[in-house]
Amino acid sequence: MLDRSAQPAMQRDCLLVINAGSSSIKFSLLCGDTAESLETIACGAIEAIGSAPHFLVGDQAGARLAERRWDEQASHDALLGHLIDWIEAHAGPNRLIAAGHRVAHGGLDCVDPQRITPEVMAQLRALEPLAPMHQAHNLAPIDALARLHPGLLQVACFDTAFHATNPAITRMYGLPQALTDAGVRRFGFHGLSYEYIAGELPKHAAQPPQARTIVAHLGSGASMCAMVDGKSVASTMGFSALDGLLMGTRCGALDPGVVLYLLQEKGMSVGQVENMLYHDSGLLGVSGISNDVRTLLASDSAAARTALDLFVYRAARELGSLAAAAGGIDTLVFTAGIGENAAPIRARICEQSAWLGIDLDRDANLAGQPCISTPASRVAVWVIPTDEALMVARHTFALRP
Ligand code: ADP
Repeated sequence: MLDRSAQPAMQRDCLLVINAGSSSIKFSLLCGDTAESLETIACGAIEAIGSAPHFLVGDQAGARLAERRWDEQASHDALLGHLIDWIEAHAGPNRLIAAGHRVAHGGLDCVDPQRITPEVMAQLRALEPLAPMHQAHNLAPIDALARLHPGLLQVACFDTAFHATNPAITRMYGLPQALTDAGVRRFGFHGLSYEYIAGELPKHAAQPPQARTIVAHLGSGASMCAMVDGKSVASTMGFSALDGLLMGTRCGALDPGVVLYLLQEKGMSVGQVENMLYHDSGLLGVSGISNDVRTLLASDSAAARTALDLFVYRAARELGSLAAAAGGIDTLVFTAGIGENAAPIRARICEQSAWLGIDLDRDANLAGQPCISTPASRVAVWVIPTDEALMVARHTFALRP
């Protein structure tokens, strides 16, 4: 049982948060009486969807609560049905009142979290071509839950929404205006992570009015966001989640002339180019070894070193660009898998950015402390773990009846 207390427990409302990808569904179950007091009581994932699905759920301390494997392919409905059955069998006195979903694209219109209705779903489906690797996968569990649990409140929260505050000029490409009007513009992603960090940072250090912060969300997908006064003013991702930094398997910023060359001169099909840019590039493509920074740091191969050199160079260069967009930088925050865990990568990005006034405290960085800049550093540097699921849960809680 999730509630192991010996006392007769009070019934509490709980929320399911879903972050669905092409072959996995990550989920969390949270309880609380207010949006700010929500706490995770269980989290897990269904991995290897489409081949040999594996369901694993643990409690907040990481102890395993349940596990199941399927030998055969199982449908989304069957897998989510198993999750809902598990929640209902193990929720004790807790009552599932809503499901919140991380959805990549909200387009120009969805800048606030949305209660799911058939009209909202139609709007979000129309955005699938703008996020071909994410949107359809994000929407599939919404459809499945609507069938399995009709009447359950479902809420979509968007990775693009936080960047709706970007000034119009920063959202444009130098393309004919008709294309800009048709939606070919910068949107930016990882917004739920940035929104969470914007809320956490003032808990670590008081922020002066108009404080200029750059957040480096360095995970398998990676981007940076410049904020002024806690609001996004620019980000490294644009129309798609390909732009900006070098990522695990994505190329980051690329001269569009390269794409034309591959299509026209190398005879590659659109599908081959798409696959290469999303899945075969980045740290994996450059190193030829792995998309995982842990593996590359442990390797003594020259190709692994080159991949990490390029990762650091691109990050430091974009940091300078975002500082220009924000009119300077007072605080730098590292977050997500690489940002939170890879001290040598943080150190190298900070060292290459010393000209901005960043002075790294090497011992604090190695010790994994939250503040990793020296007292003399003009720019404060923090490491703050992100929590996109909690952000989705807070938005979902706010929209419950
Ligand atoms: P996502 O949520 O986008 O899948 P994460 O934020 O979990 O990604 O980041 C995953 C990446 O973080 C891994 O691919 C790996 O490169 C990096 N990472 C995780 N832990 C460590 C670690 N201890 N040291 C270095 N890199 C790490």
